[in-house]
Amino acid sequence: MIKTKLTEMFGVEHPIIQGGLMWVATAELTSAVANAGAMGFMTALTQPDAEALRAEIRKCRDMTDKPFGINLTILPSLRQPDYPAYIRVCIEEDIKFIETAGRNPEPFMEPLKAAGIKVIHKCTSVRHAIKAEKVGCDAVSIDGFECAGHPGEDDVTTLILLPLTQDALSIPIAASGGFGDGRGLAGCLALGADAMNMGTRFCATKEAPIHDNVKQMLVDNDERATKLIMRTLRNTERVVVNEAVNQVLEIEAKGNTKIEDIAPLVSGLVGKKMFEEGDTNAGIMSAGQIMGLIRDIPTCQVLIDRIMSEAEDIINNRLGSMVGQPVG
Ligand code: NAD
Repeated sequence: MIKTKLTEMFGVEHPIIQGGLMWVATAELTSAVANAGAMGFMTALTQPDAEALRAEIRKCRDMTDKPFGINLTILPSLRQPDYPAYIRVCIEEDIKFIETAGRNPEPFMEPLKAAGIKVIHKCTSVRHAIKAEKVGCDAVSIDGFECAGHPGEDDVTTLILLPLTQDALSIPIAASGGFGDGRGLAGCLALGADAMNMGTRFCATKEAPIHDNVKQMLVDNDERATKLIMRTLRNTERVVVNEAVNQVLEIEAKGNTKIEDIAPLVSGLVGKKMFEEGDTNAGIMSAGQIMGLIRDIPTCQVLIDRIMSEAEDIINNRLGSMVGQPVG
């Protein structure tokens, strides 16, 4: 058992977080994560509107009586999400934890704080983490360059970001980007984290509601199978390399790219179809370099138990025995 400030804050058994995953973090996945003793966030924008989110929250409550939260991603979008409506439903449904991700959550903090909701903000730089603490976030999830999805534009890896964030903040920190096993958990706790956030690794689980072809692709790919798209729009996204991604990069290489030029390829609705139908070349999928360490498709329970016993073994035995022996 590993107790940290974040296991205490969330009231969960293990310092593992399933962060928001577009189209993947639904009641099926998040309830499985919660039932296995970790913290899960269902993604608000995966639901077409606020009432659909309400129904998904109720469905998740039917599937688990453990804590879970809602992810609210604040990034450029082809649709115009009705953020106030999603927030209203979270408050009405008595959600206790929200993971904001991307841009500054300040415009949403007042209603969230008034409702007593704890906010963990996922961001990709120390300066944004400092800002998150300043605007009242209760924790920060710091996301390194290895991560799936949007790593920001600074290209600083988790190994550097995490201790820098620990030095700069007094609120608890989750480590994101590059995590998928017990070695990662032991490592990030040593570097200053109070929990480990995983995204891509949770996509390759039995309960992730995506086609088996997509899960198998994550297992088959190695750590080199990602590319960065939308750098030209300053909205960089790390994605699994496939035919659609190569087409996006060809368009971007011509210069003066506008979102309209690539929208038919990068649209989340096309990615959703890929997740449902299993044509792994059809759309865009965010994925991290951790693919190199994904070798199976377990249940969330098996995955989380394995990570915990691996991390505890490293801390107690591998590291413990090093400290136990006199140096020199
Ligand atoms: P979408 O279909 O609305 O947009 C597709 C992609 O185009 C997204 O990456 C989006 O950020 C980008 N985009 C849209 N309008 C843009 C603009 N004007 N300028 C630059 N880029 C633009 O997105 P979706 O797949 O339905 O996802 C919904 C939201 O979740 C988006 O904001 C997306 O960025 C976000 N998301 C975040 C992550 C992550 O790593 N945190 C992963 C997947 C999706």
